[in-house]
Amino acid sequence: MHSLSYDRPRRRMVEEQLITAGIQDERVLQAMSIVPRHLFVDAALRAHAYQDSSLPIGEGQTISQPYMVAKMSELLLLQGHERVLEIGTGCGYQTAVLSRLCKRVYSIERIESLHEKARSNLRRAQHANVMLKCGDGLLGWEEYAPFDAVIVTAGGFASDIWLEQLKVGGILLMPEGDEKKHQLVRRLKLQDGIEETYFDACTFVPLLEGELRR
Ligand code: SAH
Repeated sequence: MHSLSYDRPRRRMVEEQLITAGIQDERVLQAMSIVPRHLFVDAALRAHAYQDSSLPIGEGQTISQPYMVAKMSELLLLQGHERVLEIGTGCGYQTAVLSRLCKRVYSIERIESLHEKARSNLRRAQHANVMLKCGDGLLGWEEYAPFDAVIVTAGGFASDIWLEQLKVGGILLMPEGDEKKHQLVRRLKLQDGIEETYFDACTFVPLLEGELRR
């Protein structure tokens, strides 16, 4: 299918899955009405790219449901000047959306084949303000710290390193909890402590330790 044919399903996704479900940040809605989600999934799944669900991207991993990508993007409260660290690049879709909302995205993926896939997807979608790395995201990315925000797209428990690599006033957002029972939590790093807020219950693939080369 020609990529023009995806314009209508993408518009419907924004209206029926995001606006209806309460996403309000205009910049997030705008970004998701532009980023070609169908180019981030395998050719065989393209027809399903704009449906209200997560989809397999290989290696037992998934691209998050559009609503969850929007919700997490909105909760980061980005204005455009930020440098954001993402843990769990996957196919690179959330990365692409973030790259339209902030100055630069640094994204780490532990599975090499997905890291390579994201690289080619993001190149095709022409996202230049993105830096990708294959490695263990639990270690953060010291070289470019401190960040204005850290977003984790796999479920589990926070690494202390992420808070260390955040600026004061920065945000750590992640699905937290034991296997398959996660809740979105946003932690704001203050001068003298942490302020935390809980949001939607959700289910993510697990956050795992170590790099996987294949
Ligand atoms: N944002 C992605 C979602 C991918 S699913 C997208 O839009 O496609 C979560 C990803 O986190 C998986 O690809 C998984 O391999 C990765 N992941 C899990 N634990 C990790 C870790 N410790 N470091 C880096 N990536 C990790």
